[in-house]
Amino acid sequence: MMEQKSEKRNLSEDDKISPIRIRNLSVTYRTEPALWNVDVDFPEGKMIAIVGPNGAGKSTLIKAIMGLVPITAGKVSVYDKSYSKQRSKVAYVPQRGSVDWDFPTDALDVVEMGLYGKLGWLRRPNSQTRQKARECLAQVGLEDYADRQIGQLSGGQQQRVFVARALAQDPQIYLMDEPLNGVDAVTEDTILSILENLKKEGKTIVMVHHDLQTVDKYFDWVVMLNRSLVATGPIKQVFTKDNLDRTYQESPRMSI
Ligand code: ADP
Ligand code: MG
Repeated sequence: MMEQKSEKRNLSEDDKISPIRIRNLSVTYRTEPALWNVDVDFPEGKMIAIVGPNGAGKSTLIKAIMGLVPITAGKVSVYDKSYSKQRSKVAYVPQRGSVDWDFPTDALDVVEMGLYGKLGWLRRPNSQTRQKARECLAQVGLEDYADRQIGQLSGGQQQRVFVARALAQDPQIYLMDEPLNGVDAVTEDTILSILENLKKEGKTIVMVHHDLQTVDKYFDWVVMLNRSLVATGPIKQVFTKDNLDRTYQESPRMSI
């Protein structure tokens, strides 16, 4: 239902280009849809949680934004353009289990790789990118671990390295898949205070989050997902018992 706009209403708020706009998005891997007809506008400069049960399509939603999974139907735009035109504005912190830690590379290398996209194909990493990567490692409290093999770091430290890598990219939008899952308290605090500062700079943070107890403490906005969208909006209005029941009910909603 469309609301009649009052004349006094600030139109610029309404007309703002959404950092990420998702329309009628469906993703089917095999036969069953993992996402069904999802519409979301992510607001700028907010901490946004994506919540929902296992298999709800949370990771799929994040990946679909970046074109990492085939989109069956619908459209994603990043600041009103396709992701491929906007990739430098987006950094991704993948879910931890999805990364091969046997890969022989140290923490500083991982962070520096975040800068390759900015350099273009012809330019090589140099002392400047090295320095930038060191600064980002320092920001996550790992300046002393630059030379450590990534596989030799604790889970929380690995997660912080990936946050440092995202910071090095200097994006407008952070897409993070359960970065706080299974990490120690120091890591959780470090990541949250960094994100808090990024938010103050106007960055948009989208995070898959598993801990329902901390949603209202950490986030401004929520996307409640169970294959189809259950609800989205400001925490205070949307993160209700009723919506939680609908999100976590046993059989996912498949109706349109
Ligand atoms: P969540 O992150 O909410 O736990 P996912 O997005 O990982 O959910 O998965 C949603 C559904 O899609 C699950 O049923 C999962 O098994 C399936 N799925 C995810 N990735 C793939 C894939 N690459 N191939 C086939 N099925 C997949
Ligand atoms: Mg997931």
